[in-house]
Amino acid sequence: MQLSKKQKGILYSSCFIILALVITFWSGKNFYDFAHYETEFAIRENVVTRVEKFSKYSPRLKGTVGDSNIYVIEGAEPGPSILIIGGTHPNEPAGQVAATVLLENLTVERGTVYIITEANRSAYTHSHPQEASIQYFGIETPYGVRTFKFGSRATNTNQQWPNPDVYVHRNSGQKLSSADTRNLNRAYPGSENGTYTERVAYAITECIRQNNITITIDLHEASPEYQTINTIVSHNRKEALKIAAAATLMMESNDVSIRYEESPLNLHGLTHRELGDYTDTLAFLLETSNASQGKIRGAFTEELVLTGKDKFYQKAMEKGIGKILYAAPVSLDERVARHVYGVYEIIQAYNKYYGTEGLGELKVNGFPSYQDIMTNGVGNYLKEIIK
Ligand SMILES: [Zn+2]
Repeated sequence: MQLSKKQKGILYSSCFIILALVITFWSGKNFYDFAHYETEFAIRENVVTRVEKFSKYSPRLKGTVGDSNIYVIEGAEPGPSILIIGGTHPNEPAGQVAATVLLENLTVERGTVYIITEANRSAYTHSHPQEASIQYFGIETPYGVRTFKFGSRATNTNQQWPNPDVYVHRNSGQKLSSADTRNLNRAYPGSENGTYTERVAYAITECIRQNNITITIDLHEASPEYQTINTIVSHNRKEALKIAAAATLMMESNDVSIRYEESPLNLHGLTHRELGDYTDTLAFLLETSNASQGKIRGAFTEELVLTGKDKFYQKAMEKGIGKILYAAPVSLDERVARHVYGVYEIIQAYNKYYGTEGLGELKVNGFPSYQDIMTNGVGNYLKEIIK
């Protein structure tokens, strides 16, 4: 049978429409599945005292994707408290994985530990445009592979849109690039009725304020050429600087190369600036070197996230191109080990200087050591998920 020109046209355009629908459905399903995938954390029943929600502190988050958990581990004796924040930037996996290791291993004798593993949960529901990043990565554990998400630096546009041309930080009036409008670490101290990102920041600020949290540590990563990698950034309060200096010395003396830096007075919206200014907490931020965030990296693979190995960074270092401050490859094991060890030394320094006064010592046990994580791999310190 011969098809007329018109019939052929209808046939071709129908095929084209069907193909377009299949591609749309397939890619839509991929985005949908990623957005709805829930990362699991092992909550030890007799250790984790309670689980709070961000909406307790920032009510408008209730029922939304950003209503994250705050895991609370209380010691038998009251004392000082610490908040550990992971997952501010979901494209910096060591922060979340380190917070998870702490959640699944720490026990508290005296004082209280608060842990957030998904600070910006909305940012875990999408990927950063034009980065071709992976969506998930797996860590081998004795109980099988644990899956974590690799999300975006910014809140999803489903929760906050549009971006203004210039982001004006609410409290200081500081002007930043439009991209920082949805950046949780430029939104502090936040606002109860502000943008979505500001409401998330407000939940964390209020949690610290209402519970009088003594120490706050925000866990991050940055590209290998970024100035603050392998750094403890400290709020400028005298006590915080003293603790950062002592922790740096201890880490250096145990062959973990690190330095400390005072939070710049004029850089607003960040945890190490605003949480120290707006609450009584001693605020710190830790950074490690993450090649998958780097500007000169090659293909974005799961292996790159886990091993930090990238041939372009290696070439650049061999040839001395650019200012790569810390030699790649830096594995996820090493990055998590640094964060966990950094938290440990900050607590030790706090106890050394302030453990004999006021609230007394913060007694926390169960830290895997830097060497333990490097030798056995971080997966050995992730617990079994029991359903
Ligand atoms: Zn970050």
